[in-house]
Amino acid sequence: MERFYLTVARVAKQTLHHMVEHRIPMLPDVYSRHFYRYLSACDQDSQHLIEEQQESDSQEAGDQQKQGLSIMQELLEMINKLDQVTGNHSESLDNHLLKLKDTEEIDDLNQLKNEITGELSLVIANNNEIHSNILDAQETVKRLQDKMEEVADMATIDALTGLYNRRALFSRLTEEYSRARRYGQGFSILLIDIDDFKKINDEHGHQVGDGILRGLGAFLRQILRDSDFPSRYGGEEFICLLPSTDLMQASQAGEKIRKQLATSKLSSKKMAVSLQITVSIGAATLNANEDEDIDTLIKRADDALYQAKRNGKNQLVNESEL
Ligand code: GH3
Ligand code: MG
Ligand code: MG
Repeated sequence: MERFYLTVARVAKQTLHHMVEHRIPMLPDVYSRHFYRYLSACDQDSQHLIEEQQESDSQEAGDQQKQGLSIMQELLEMINKLDQVTGNHSESLDNHLLKLKDTEEIDDLNQLKNEITGELSLVIANNNEIHSNILDAQETVKRLQDKMEEVADMATIDALTGLYNRRALFSRLTEEYSRARRYGQGFSILLIDIDDFKKINDEHGHQVGDGILRGLGAFLRQILRDSDFPSRYGGEEFICLLPSTDLMQASQAGEKIRKQLATSKLSSKKMAVSLQITVSIGAATLNANEDEDIDTLIKRADDALYQAKRNGKNQLVNESEL
């Protein structure tokens, strides 16, 4: 554990030094990107040490979050039931009271009836108080549940790969989109999909599959520029957002990624083997002067990716070739 802290401290120091020196804004997500960049440059042991800790921490946090949410859900259901029960109880007490009030045959019962009526009124009052307490508790639990969901939504880093997650990607795409509209400066995206990933899972197991995803995450962070934005779009699909980059430059960057992957092996400590993978890539550019939205841009990259797969995989197709 001590080695872990020392390694983190060393990488953190290098990261901060680099950010101050280059006047890079000290924002949490920018910091984490640079941190991972320095980590990629570290020796393999240090990388594995931090990868492992990060994985177990985020799994733990995720498990806690899930447990918390399910407890909240249970509690809400329980309170709902309790509310129904006390509501019915109060109703049935009311009915008994009515019946007692209707009994007129035996005069002696009058005294008793009054007493019971008084007592029952008390029970109803208590019951009403419980009812109102339950409503309060219900509201509190609902607030807590909303809060926890809010916290979960705020996460921007994908736990497995350490890349930005889908939520962070769309927020950055929206930002880049309005910048493109305002200043006429377009940007490009690379949609990357691992070839025959199912086979890797089938042949080597899901753990190795996960290791490959982690390895690809580290590879993308290391190969792309500081200003680029690599993210995990879904299962084994990644989107790299390249600001101020035209289609030709983006295709060159994508080709570099594809070639390097096709000629080297990915590994992660948990994998007994290091494997060579290939990827197919679709490249598309947002044209700042045309009226189009983010979904259309992704759709065009997806069409290009589909074409790359049809052409035989392990290749890049850009939208102008469609
Ligand atoms: P293609 O070359 O056409 O892309 O073939 P493919 O086998 O990669 O096909 P497809 O994209 O349909 O399959 C993706 C597989 O990725 C299916 C799913 O089991 C696996 N996968 C998705 N997310 C994860 C993950 O987090 N970990 C692991 N190990 N596998 C995942
Ligand atoms: Mg896929
Ligand atoms: Mg695939």
